[in-house]
Amino acid sequence: MSTPSPDASRKGVSKRMSHVFFRDVRKEHPVIVGGEGVYLFDDQGRRYLDGCSGALVANIGHGVEPVARAIYEQARKVAFTHLSRFSSLPIQRLAELIATISPPGLNRVYFVSGGSEATETALKLSRQYFLERDKNSQKHLVISRWHCFHGNTLGALSMTGLVPRRKRYTPYLLNFPKINPPYCYRCPHGRTPPDCRVPCAYELEVMLKQVGPEYVAAFIAEPVVGAAAGALVPPPEYLPTVRQICDRYDILLIADEVMCGFGRTGRHFAVDHWGVVPDVITAAKGMAAGYAPLGAAIVHEKIWEVFRQGSGRFEHGHTYGGNPLACAAGAAVLEYYLEHDLVSHCRQLGELLLAELAPLKDNPVVGDVRGLGLMLGVELVQDRATRTPLPASRGMAEVATQFILKQGVVVYPGNGMVDGVAGDQFLIGPPLVINEAEVRQLAQGVIAGLDELARELA
Ligand code: PLP
Repeated sequence: MSTPSPDASRKGVSKRMSHVFFRDVRKEHPVIVGGEGVYLFDDQGRRYLDGCSGALVANIGHGVEPVARAIYEQARKVAFTHLSRFSSLPIQRLAELIATISPPGLNRVYFVSGGSEATETALKLSRQYFLERDKNSQKHLVISRWHCFHGNTLGALSMTGLVPRRKRYTPYLLNFPKINPPYCYRCPHGRTPPDCRVPCAYELEVMLKQVGPEYVAAFIAEPVVGAAAGALVPPPEYLPTVRQICDRYDILLIADEVMCGFGRTGRHFAVDHWGVVPDVITAAKGMAAGYAPLGAAIVHEKIWEVFRQGSGRFEHGHTYGGNPLACAAGAAVLEYYLEHDLVSHCRQLGELLLAELAPLKDNPVVGDVRGLGLMLGVELVQDRATRTPLPASRGMAEVATQFILKQGVVVYPGNGMVDGVAGDQFLIGPPLVINEAEVRQLAQGVIAGLDELARELA
């Protein structure tokens, strides 16, 4: 925000868009007219370091020429065909690339246009999968977790455990059971990793016994929790234990990697950190890195085989699922990501970013800094010793991000993860192409912004 854009011609090219219905109807939004690497430029000549890739989306950075070219070339050939009639070269290419980097067996890709469509797909897929196996199956419930996010459409929101997003719409929601997430900073079982023996994972087994496994089709979890709780990383035994429980009770394991997938945590998929193979991975965001609306349910071969040998048809689909233009963007993004080995780069720069943020341990409003790769969360507190959250009414996550924005750095706020009401955190998740100097600039912006916040609150 502080340094002027190098390109003066960008200045003043657009007016404020007064007819747009923004989520936050009172807020004035800067008009972004360009982007390059980790930076965004507005029409007033201000430069922003995009410290959260929008919403952990722009993984390969802004303004990548080969991706723009691939989109242009595909649009000239054919922009749209419907998946019920035709395949296309971009969709074949993208599915092949995704199968190459996915855990073993996950090699059937069902394309959609975003994260909520991906998790809705997984929800319906798990129901139909059990019906394909047994037409009288009663399995339909999806167990999920509090303080986790799976999307804003009604099926996805029913699985979502982020209370502020659910509250107004509760009358519309399906009654899906919820367990606690692995929130080690505030362990609901009062334990401390690494010797905690993951009672949070065994909550799944307890819930299955309570509701009856014959009614449960799947368990959905973000392997690293993103926007809803600020980069919660589970203890090492958590996901392997969950996998065993799912197998024991014959339910599908859906890993929601809409945010943490495609290299964000320093592996292609976050489940790879623990060698866990889910039945379905839901993906979006980093998959096309913002160059097109794109998502997918990446499905295990054995599930696809049940459909093939059963009715032969998945009774679901969206008009834009698998459209050639979005898939051409996705394939070009994935080729760029592999060519530049952004997974290893993310691992290295993630460690540097965490180290650079170390001074936050002296800031009285910072309770916890956590995460994996370039997916970090900062939890704010009123009292570090007691871990008391800030009063919810003060909306301090948003205030903190405004202080950080004054330093020219954009981060992504969230709230409500302590008890559904209180709890302030923000995510740091820059494009994976960030370099060392930019990491230092990002960390300094966060530290300076939070220093100012602490002075204000003192
Ligand atoms: N799942 C997770 C883990 C997410 O983080 C999100 C979005 O933030 C979604 C699902 C929903 O994705 P979308 O906003 O593309 O519908």
